[in-house]
Amino acid sequence: MGTYGCHELEYVRTDRNGTKIFHDNNCPRCAGYGFLEKWANTGKVCFECGGTGLRPRPKVVKFYTDEYRAKLDARKAARDAKILADNPPPTEVELQARAREAMMTIWENQGFSRNGSGFIHYGNTYPNRDALRKGGGRWCQFLKAYIAPAPISGLCGVKIRQTSTDELCNANGYIDLDKAFGMFCDELT
Ligand SMILES: [Zn+2]
Repeated sequence: MGTYGCHELEYVRTDRNGTKIFHDNNCPRCAGYGFLEKWANTGKVCFECGGTGLRPRPKVVKFYTDEYRAKLDARKAARDAKILADNPPPTEVELQARAREAMMTIWENQGFSRNGSGFIHYGNTYPNRDALRKGGGRWCQFLKAYIAPAPISGLCGVKIRQTSTDELCNANGYIDLDKAFGMFCDELT
């Protein structure tokens, strides 16, 4: 039996599966030597074991028979298969549905409805801000306007224009700076 250190592995016992159990007594720092020449400038003696070269408690090392190792591998494979069967990874369709849901939530957080439609409320919005928020409006700093899922009527000086996430958002669902600025310059001023 090979061992990395100065002291040979110490045979302890063989269990009923044929597994041979050994103790490795080598200090993990000095590999059992107790002192090393390369530590000359700090006194050579290993400060982990104090020079004995031994671990405080031996490390258990097991050697399986090929037969028992194959059995253990088969058991692990069966366990892994069961875990996978109990928690199957999401299908491509499920992943797409989740991504779609996430995008709809991003739209919603910006004032659009979940189907992607929205209404830009612009003009004299500041005095009407409470009513705009109450109606689900979200301030868009690029447009300098509120986007709401439905038109909020009866607000003095507030004009309404219908829009959509197709018109304003990028592929990740966020309002696109260039699209918003384009609209701001062309129409909303
Ligand atoms: Zn040591």
